[in-house]
Amino acid sequence: ERPAVLFRNAPGLWRASFPVLAPDTHKYRRGAVLVVAGGLAGVGAPRLSARAALRIGAGLATIACRPEALAAHAARGPDALMQRAVADGAALERLLAEKRLSAVLVGPALGLDGEAREAVAAVLRSSVPAVLDADALTILAGSAARAGRQIARRGAPCVLTPHEGEFARLFGDSGGGSKLDRARRAAAEIGAVVVLKGADTVIAAPEGRAAINATGCPALATAGSGDVLGGMVAGLLAQGMPAFEAACAAVWLHGRAGEARGVGLVADDLPEAIPPLLRELQDAGPEDWSGAE
Ligand code: AMP
Ligand code: MG
Repeated sequence: ERPAVLFRNAPGLWRASFPVLAPDTHKYRRGAVLVVAGGLAGVGAPRLSARAALRIGAGLATIACRPEALAAHAARGPDALMQRAVADGAALERLLAEKRLSAVLVGPALGLDGEAREAVAAVLRSSVPAVLDADALTILAGSAARAGRQIARRGAPCVLTPHEGEFARLFGDSGGGSKLDRARRAAAEIGAVVVLKGADTVIAAPEGRAAINATGCPALATAGSGDVLGGMVAGLLAQGMPAFEAACAAVWLHGRAGEARGVGLVADDLPEAIPPLLRELQDAGPEDWSGAE
C-alpha cells in the first residue's frame, strides 16, 4: 500500500521505464500485441489501434477478428498488420495462450453481442497484460465489482481507458467529486489502472498514485482518437513497461501527437505523428526530462 500521491504527467515520471531499442533486438523481443476486434461493422478502429501499437515500438501487431471480417482486414493493407480469424471464445483463448504474445487490447469496434462478451471473458481469464477500452468497458458495465475479482485473479497488468460515458456506465458516479477523486476510487475498486479520458485526462493506479495530463488539444475529440490511445498503451505494455507508467507515457505522447497535428486532424494522423516524438525522447538527455515540461 502506497499513500495517495499526485503527479503532473511528464516524461520524468516514466522515462526510466520507457522502452529503449537494444542494438541486437529482434521483432519478437520488442513485443507482440493482439488487438481483439469484432466483425465487419468495425474494421477501421482496431486497425488504428494496431497501427499505433507498431508506431510506438511493438515488434508485431495482430488483429483477431470474426471470420467474416478476415477478408476485409486483409484487403486494407499494405502494412505490417496481421489478421487471424477467431470463431469463438475458445479460439481466442488459444491465441491468448501463444507464448510470444505480450499484450492484448480488447474493445475498439468489438461489438456488444454474445461473441463480444465471450471475447472479454477470454481476455479476463488470460494472464496477458491487457488494455480494456470502448465496447469491452460497456460489456462490463454495472459489474465493476465482478470485473475487479476477475482482474485480481489474473494477476497481470490491466489498464482501463474509459471516456466519461464509459466510466459512468461502469462505475456509476464513483462517489462523485472531482475527476481525480472519481478516477482514484474507480482504480482502487477495480484493481486496475484507470485512464479517465477527456480534456485533462487523469491516470490513476489502484495503490494511490495518480497523474493529471496536460498535453493534448480539443482537436483530439474525433472518431478513432481513443482507439489510437488504446493501441499506444498496449504497445508500451507489450514492451514491458509497468501499467501506470505505460498509461502515463501513452497519454502524454497521444496529447503531443494531437498538438503536433492540430486543428483538422483525423485519428489516422496520430500514429504517424509518433516517430518524431520518439526521436525527441531518445535524443533528450536525462536532465531534459526531470519532470518539468
Ligand atoms: P475516445 O472518446 O475514446 O475517442 O477518446 C478520445 C480521446 O481524445 C481521448 O484520449 C481524450 O482524452 C481525447 N480528448 C477528447 N476531447 C479532448 C479535449 N477537449 N481536449 C483534449 N483531449 C481530448
Ligand atoms: Mg473510444
